[in-house]
Amino acid sequence: MLYLVATPIGNLDDISLRALETLRQVDIVASEDTRKTGRLLKHFDIQKSQIPFHEHNKERAAGKIMALLEQGKSVALVTDAGTPGISDPGFSLLRRVIKADLEVTMIPGPAALVMALVLSGLPLHSFTFRGFPPRKSGRRRRFLEVDKDSPHTLIFYESPYRLPAFLQDALSVYGNRDAVLARELTKLHEEVQRGKLSALLADLQVRPPRGEYVVVISGAGEQVRK
Ligand code: SAM
Repeated sequence: MLYLVATPIGNLDDISLRALETLRQVDIVASEDTRKTGRLLKHFDIQKSQIPFHEHNKERAAGKIMALLEQGKSVALVTDAGTPGISDPGFSLLRRVIKADLEVTMIPGPAALVMALVLSGLPLHSFTFRGFPPRKSGRRRRFLEVDKDSPHTLIFYESPYRLPAFLQDALSVYGNRDAVLARELTKLHEEVQRGKLSALLADLQVRPPRGEYVVVISGAGEQVRK
């Protein structure tokens, strides 16, 4: 059985009892970052062997994990933070396991996009998660244009280094919509900034971005009623 185990996105106390029990019971833990998962396991006094499973070895490592699953072993997949498969290499393994008709389940838990969306205060009844935008401006604008007329709340992951350029492109493509920057969620410097795209962008000139961000932007025609 493959267990997709969600882990904290910052605050270690957000680990679930089932996640801990699963990590204790499985034969092996496949980790996107063995050092980071090693710290998590140590914190909860769990001794378990790990195998690396990350973007650069995912094809080869998936083969190894499939072989273990076929032998009847149990494997927990833990990615860097949050829910495996959401904007991380977990997805490719999940697809292979489903295709091979092997057993898979999930131990649910934190996902940055859900926390950011809920705290945004923007409409929650329908939303579109777009993950990480392309890094280059031309491709990024075309990527943003896909949802230009969509009424759904839009959610993006973005690195602090590219955040100003991303917001600038979002402003050009969508106009000055309501948006939210959800930063360092569940961590010491957790912050949720709500405002127009132009105001959020202006604030980043004064306070350069630091830490991890989720960007939430209101859908077309879905401006928040004041
Ligand atoms: N699988 C993860 C999940 O369930 O959210 C996401 C993995 S993705 C590689 C990492 C991105 O998620 C970060 O670049 C950031 O955009 C977002 N993220 C993760 N943790 C966060 C946090 N504590 N606060 C804000 N954003 C976070």
